[in-house]
Amino acid sequence: MVEIKTDISIEAMREAGRLVAQALTAAREAASVGVSLRELDRIARAVLDEAGAGSPFLDYHPDWAPIPFPAVLCASVNDAIVHGIPDDYRLRDGDLLSLDCGAIRNGWAGDAAVSFTVGRARPEDTRLIDTAERALEAGIAAAVVGNRIGDIAHAVGRVCRSAGYGLPDGFGGHGIGRSMHEDPGVPNEGRPGRGMALRHGMVLAIEPMVIASGSDDHYTARDGWTVRTVDGSRAAHAEHTVAITDDGPRILTAL
Ligand code: MG
Ligand code: MG
Repeated sequence: MVEIKTDISIEAMREAGRLVAQALTAAREAASVGVSLRELDRIARAVLDEAGAGSPFLDYHPDWAPIPFPAVLCASVNDAIVHGIPDDYRLRDGDLLSLDCGAIRNGWAGDAAVSFTVGRARPEDTRLIDTAERALEAGIAAAVVGNRIGDIAHAVGRVCRSAGYGLPDGFGGHGIGRSMHEDPGVPNEGRPGRGMALRHGMVLAIEPMVIASGSDDHYTARDGWTVRTVDGSRAAHAEHTVAITDDGPRILTAL
């Protein structure tokens, strides 16, 4: 069931979303060569703690996961697409890092992700990240009253596919509200004009993930969480929580 949010609830979600942006910004600013992923998680956690906010990631334990997620941040390096566990890995020159963070504030959730390179960027990584961001922008632009979920999916997928990239099948965006994952699902590829009609008060996390080689194949690593590309090629991820309003899409996870 899709929960339609009141304007007051959307304002409350904006506060959660702003905190996500602050946590991601703090972690990104700290992400340089030699810094461990665990340290980035500590930095994001401090931002949430200081605001008295909770994490929808920490201790999240879906049926398919062997262990609860142990951090407030997902940190996915190079061939890791999403759900990387921040560990003692120290960032190296040229790494492509994706950070995904959530917050719960006053009972409302926010969810966003960003990808960037550490140290000297490879041009092919810059192009990959740019494409994930452009796909996110296209998805947000399609998140308007009168459109359907399939219009968002189509907009996202077209940007990624026309750049020649793969999309990990089975992964995509989602409704969000009092919990991080709500109906409806927001696929990263689809047919325009299909699926649920978009209404004022729907809040969606839109999150393209792209695989550099063009393959859609992925697997879950032995830690039970990290999703990696099968062929070892790099991946990028971009995400915002977006409210659909009569005045157009509103990004709730901006700074
Ligand atoms: Mg996320
Ligand atoms: Mg999400």
